Amino acid sequence: MKRNEFIKTSLLGAAACLLQPLRGKAAPLSNKNVAYYTPMSDDYNSLRAGFNSRINKHPLLIAVCENTLGVQQAVQYANLFQLPVSIKSGGHCMEGFSCGEQSMQIIVSPMKKINWIDKNNIKVGPGCLLHELYEALLPRKKILPGGSCATVGIGGLTLGGGYGLLSRQYGLTCDNLTAVKMIDGKGKLIDSVQDPALLWACKGGGNGNFGAVTELSFRLHDSPALMSSYRFRAKKINIARGRQILSAWFEACQHLPKQAFSACLFNGNNAYILLTHTGTALASINTFITQMKPLLDTFTANRNQELSLALKNYYGQPHPVLFKNASAGLYKSFMDIDACLDDILGIVFNSKGMIYQVNTLGGVIQDADAESHSAFPHRAYPYFSELQTYWDTPKAGELLMEQFQEVQQIIAKAGIEAQYRNYPDIHFEHFEEKYYGQNLKKLQDIKQQYDPENRFRHEQSIRVS
Ligand SMILES: Cc1cc2nc3c(=O)[nH]c(=O)nc-3n(C[C@H](O)[C@H](O)[C@H](O)COP(=O)(O)OP(=O)(O)OC[C@H]3O[C@@H](n4cnc5c(N)ncnc54)[C@H](O)[C@@H]3O)c2cc1C
Repeated sequence: MKRNEFIKTSLLGAAACLLQPLRGKAAPLSNKNVAYYTPMSDDYNSLRAGFNSRINKHPLLIAVCENTLGVQQAVQYANLFQLPVSIKSGGHCMEGFSCGEQSMQIIVSPMKKINWIDKNNIKVGPGCLLHELYEALLPRKKILPGGSCATVGIGGLTLGGGYGLLSRQYGLTCDNLTAVKMIDGKGKLIDSVQDPALLWACKGGGNGNFGAVTELSFRLHDSPALMSSYRFRAKKINIARGRQILSAWFEACQHLPKQAFSACLFNGNNAYILLTHTGTALASINTFITQMKPLLDTFTANRNQELSLALKNYYGQPHPVLFKNASAGLYKSFMDIDACLDDILGIVFNSKGMIYQVNTLGGVIQDADAESHSAFPHRAYPYFSELQTYWDTPKAGELLMEQFQEVQQIIAKAGIEAQYRNYPDIHFEHFEEKYYGQNLKKLQDIKQQYDPENRFRHEQSIRVS
């Protein structure tokens, strides 16, 4: 045996011996940068849990990191023992990719500090939650376009894209990202200032793929002072009426200003339309209302609410829930789902707890400049749809999960390919192409550069090409 091989074999042997106690009680020594927890630790179950109670995974070791150095130490430890690494910021991954079986789970949730660089730029830790961010920015009359759920982490949201009520006006969250710091698969600290390709990759292609992002820098916008919200509802409709409402909604959305957001959703056999608006282009808003009002039963308006209060209307449930929610395709127009819509609605209308929703993207998200500066590949699609199901007990979820799959198969058979990475579905075939489209090859090259050993991985992470 050559000397190098002997050393390597001896080290691996030593690592294997040390791993045995890891499966039991002992863990690496915690310090002020990182605290380690094993399955024997009191806090193990609460730490590994994510927002989706459906997911139940058991990491071998949890590393709760206070700072970049702590993340670096944890990755170096994972390298020594060849442990796969998953990363949790806000824990909202819909398929639980922020926690892996028999792996090291790096938790960066304590890293949530916001540092103001100047009045238009911040640096923020990946563990900062959306409501914490909004609460820091809005009193200074600044905003970063994010999602609506208050407890989503800025880390996962940005690295997968990030859309919300203000995205048509200010872009995706990732479009406003100006730099990242990351501990890569070799345990090395990388600053994207030295590598623009890494910044490009982290704008929509960075979820648990190349390393653990420990700091994100953002450019901010002046926040609009007020937001108006409008809701339309129609109860107990049939499929023909659902089709009429959705096709009219697609048509009406084409004329919305970029300051507006809209969603059309079917919850069982009830239809809802939401419209929000922060600008002064009231004529086009009134046209939308005039077009949609006759098609639905009720209409309510909440005009000119202070933005900080208006956003809270969409904060959602703060505690973990049992659910399945996934991307159900990005669309260019109603034509994309015309042929399969009756089949989709046929299932949704008969499945209590299931929601089929189409949201507007478009606006500045479609700017050619944004396209070339980010890995988010779906800018040609002005609509994003999602399928959701909620239940109270695991048993009740079984049927809904089957029906969920049926709808996803209808959508796949209709030839709908583009899917949003931040709404993953574990059952997507060819998920890499669906999430990353034409940018996949470049992302695989970046994976090769920063994580050739595939240290960072989850069920749908990018593989080395
Ligand atoms: C209730 C709810 C509402 C939502 N609303 C919206 C919305 O309005 N708009 C929208 O765009 N999305 C929305 N999402 C989706 C959300 O953007 C994604 O789930 C997002 O990835 C969550 O980020 P997180 O940090 O909370 O999750 P986590 O579970 O911590 O992480 C999610 C993914 O990102 C990776 N990751 C996390 N932190 C890091 C890091 N520091 N470095 C590298 N990789 C990391 C993980 O590996 C994992 O794959 C919603 C999700 C839920 C559950």
